[in-house]
Amino acid sequence: MEQLTDTVWLHSVVAGGFPVAAGVVLGHDRIFVFDTLDSPQAMAPVAELLDGLAAGRRVIVVNSHHHWDHVYGNAAFAGHDIVAHRLCPRLIVAQSRSGAESVPPKPPEGVALPSIGFGDRLRYEDRSTTVHLIHTPGHTEDSIILYVEQSEVLLAGDTVEWPLPALSMRDGEKVYLQTLRQLTQLPARRIVPAHGPVMGKEIIDANQRYIEGLYDAVRSAKRAGVERGDLDLPATAFVPAGAGVGDTYRALHRQNVEWVYDEV
Ligand SMILES: [Zn+2]
Repeated sequence: MEQLTDTVWLHSVVAGGFPVAAGVVLGHDRIFVFDTLDSPQAMAPVAELLDGLAAGRRVIVVNSHHHWDHVYGNAAFAGHDIVAHRLCPRLIVAQSRSGAESVPPKPPEGVALPSIGFGDRLRYEDRSTTVHLIHTPGHTEDSIILYVEQSEVLLAGDTVEWPLPALSMRDGEKVYLQTLRQLTQLPARRIVPAHGPVMGKEIIDANQRYIEGLYDAVRSAKRAGVERGDLDLPATAFVPAGAGVGDTYRALHRQNVEWVYDEV
């Protein structure tokens, strides 16, 4: 586990070729676990930290959205509240029934579904800590973020990602850009994407430019008659200068290009 501040810890594993991080936030009365990675076993270090820290605090598990690499460890926290956007449980179920190649089989322990759902916002406040859960649709329709007011830390799930975001909400362009504009209003000093390094607000800006640039470029190409398979739009044209784009993100970018092509 990596300690980010006095009250925030991070734990990362590699799932499906991508590093993915979960967070722990220690309050006075509660301790929050943000995302459960790809299996209950992957959450063992977090469970161990809770053993040492929870000390009578209520454990609140949060799922940032329904994707398997964020919820497959839910069974490690059986008996605790699991909070998510209200669309999340049915999307978890739909994902496991989809048979999609990109979705690994569920862990043998199963995937405990979120037990508490909310719509726009949910706030937890105690004498030391104010935690805001905020609906931030765009990556998916059920995406949420967790913001810790006192430490100005934003746990972003997949709402922002480095070097580029993954598009998986159909017709989500306007909603995603609106979400990113809303995120820049938060006085966050440290932003923790589930996939990527801890950064400042430049990650929001970079993702906004990526989405705007990609939709514009694909729209123009499609209007000019370019076929889906012939689109030549390298990722490096849409990410900040100097941001490295490795094989996994080149492949993800290609999926984004085709995703946008089917939409514009
Ligand atoms: Zn995701």
